[in-house]
Amino acid sequence: LELLCDRVRKGNRIILDSEQTANIDALTGAYNRRWLEHIFERESTRSAFNEKPLCMLMLDVDHFKAYNDQHGHLAGDYALCLVAHTLSNQLRPKDSLTRYGGEEFVAIVPDGDGQHARSLAERLRERTASRPVHVLGDRHRLTVSIGIAELDPVDPRTALSNADRAMYRAKAAGRNRVSD
Ligand code: GH3
Ligand code: MG
Ligand code: MG
Repeated sequence: LELLCDRVRKGNRIILDSEQTANIDALTGAYNRRWLEHIFERESTRSAFNEKPLCMLMLDVDHFKAYNDQHGHLAGDYALCLVAHTLSNQLRPKDSLTRYGGEEFVAIVPDGDGQHARSLAERLRERTASRPVHVLGDRHRLTVSIGIAELDPVDPRTALSNADRAMYRAKAAGRNRVSD
């Protein structure tokens, strides 16, 4: 019986580990898009039920193609990891950071209104811009443009496209800024 229990425990651990790995982006350690679908569904339902606000942040690294062209793809990968690390360090345990695509991230921020999201986004922007990226002894800076959208409980699916549009407004306004 002991042997059987041990095998079941090990089996459960392997299932849990592989489930977690399936939700994590291998390069940056942020959650992946698969997890975003899940967490957004869960958090938007919870937010509507509890009548609490929820915000979504869309973040895109500025001029990242030029960074890759200048320093190489490997240095770009390293810089992307640093950006993800800087961002996730500023979030609360109940917020979640996902890598949405190449150099784009989405943060889900539950229980916070637009004002809370704006000050968080400003902090994320500022910390990213002020953290140097070291490449072969040189120090470089990367910046992010951030779009904010507050969840509309009647139409939760619009949050992502609204955050994306706001992010493009931040780009158009000069990059390294926050827009809602
Ligand atoms: P913008 O300020 O308008 O966002 O300019 P950008 O150069 O960041 O935007 P663009 O979409 O033209 O380029 C995104 C670049 O991100 C191109 C691609 O090579 C790079 N990229 C995407 N994913 C990765 C990755 O995993 N690693 C590295 N090193 N680069 C990546
Ligand atoms: Mg992009
Ligand atoms: Mg970009």
